[in-house]
Amino acid sequence: MDDGPVTSPADAADSLYAAHKKIYPRESHGVFSRLRNAAVLALLGLFYLLPWVHWSGRQAVLFDLPARKFYIFGLVFWPQDFFFLSWLLIIAALSLFFFTALAGRLWCGYACPQTVWTEAFVWMERLTEGNRAQQIRLDRGPWTANKIARKTAKQALWLSFSAWTGFTFVGYFTAIETLGHELIALSPGPWELFWCVFYGFATYGNAGYLREQVCKYMCPYARFQSAMFDRDTLIISYDPARGEPRGARPRGADYHARGLGDCVDCMMCVQVCPTGIDIRQGLQYECIACAACIDACDSVMDRMSYPRGLIRYATQGSMEGKTAHIVRPRMIVYGGLLAALVIGFFVAVFLRNPVDIDVLRDRNALYRVLDDERIENVYTVRLMNKDERDHSFRLSASGLPGLTLDTEREPVLVAAGTALAVAVRLRAPEHTPAGSSMVRIRATAVDDERLSAVSKGRFIAPGEEKEDEHHD
Ligand code: SF4
Ligand code: SF4
Repeated sequence: MDDGPVTSPADAADSLYAAHKKIYPRESHGVFSRLRNAAVLALLGLFYLLPWVHWSGRQAVLFDLPARKFYIFGLVFWPQDFFFLSWLLIIAALSLFFFTALAGRLWCGYACPQTVWTEAFVWMERLTEGNRAQQIRLDRGPWTANKIARKTAKQALWLSFSAWTGFTFVGYFTAIETLGHELIALSPGPWELFWCVFYGFATYGNAGYLREQVCKYMCPYARFQSAMFDRDTLIISYDPARGEPRGARPRGADYHARGLGDCVDCMMCVQVCPTGIDIRQGLQYECIACAACIDACDSVMDRMSYPRGLIRYATQGSMEGKTAHIVRPRMIVYGGLLAALVIGFFVAVFLRNPVDIDVLRDRNALYRVLDDERIENVYTVRLMNKDERDHSFRLSASGLPGLTLDTEREPVLVAAGTALAVAVRLRAPEHTPAGSSMVRIRATAVDDERLSAVSKGRFIAPGEEKEDEHHD
């Protein structure tokens, strides 16, 4: 039988390639596991249910890319509101700095989509293939009817869940009920179908098979997060001063007399680890700070009647017997900035003017002199109603003596969440100063005078023209 290429021990030691070994994480129970499960349920619940929520007769959260409008409950965001998105991204980045400096990879352990979906897939795996020991036995055993049935059930659950995930994801960009009807009628658009399949497949591959490899090899955050740590960052740490020398012992034995520390070397902390590392070897970049090893070790400590906390959240300084400084200048600066940005964001969204106006001069004619000698300039005025209600607007102009405004229809009705362009004529008396003057066009809602917006434009009168006309 051909056993493949023979590798000498020296070659093997030099090899840069290590075959992937499947990790079978043992289920952990405890405070942090409950916290993680709560986070997983809350985040997945939010993701899957939100597209089905309605608000004022439409999908509450919808990112309508073709129409270039984002609906978030009562708010409609337009491309002009792009800076809100930038603002949100800055808040997200600063939150990452703040929470990483505070307690390491909190994001990875509790909220990262990779962690959250992997937890869901691991749960389905346990449901169909049993606990860690049963899964290992099943994988090592021959292909029996039982194995085929269990593997089929797992794949059916994984594939259905992935397909639903892809469908839900696209449901944030295309109204989910419409998308559902299209899929049932086998008539989805090509892009919708592509993204449903792509996102579903990415979920299946990442959460079903790649799992910890995404964190170890693909995620950039894993590489630079340690740069945000300092000696006062809370990290998940094993206490070697208390635990070493490690070793097995019967329960109730006087282990100090045998020269042993508190670690019974049961390997439970390694078995529950989703990335398969041994936290007793110190902080490693593979650790996603899920705290499963804390729960596992605490339950061992309980069984042995030893104090909890052999593995715990601790700062590097406190592990060396120094005082921990959780509140430190860095945290105050990050926290202060973050609080200011979050408060500022909500105030800005709350005070956001739901009316916008754009004024565009007709570039075909600089001006026209009417029969009665008045001077006329023509504009296209684009009115945007970002409010949830329809509004009618009156237009007015100012900036020159005797300036009048004329439009085809007054008031101008603009439906909720839409924009409308109207042709507007501004007329000024014949003795208007020659050249370019700045004028203002204001739109005011008939039903609520507080809803108004103004935009500037250039009015050009015959005579000696000023230079800035050309920049109009
Ligand atoms: S779970 Fe605790 S006692 Fe068991 S090996 Fe890990 S550190 Fe030691
Ligand atoms: S070492 Fe502990 S905290 Fe880190 S990934 Fe493994 S189980 Fe989670």
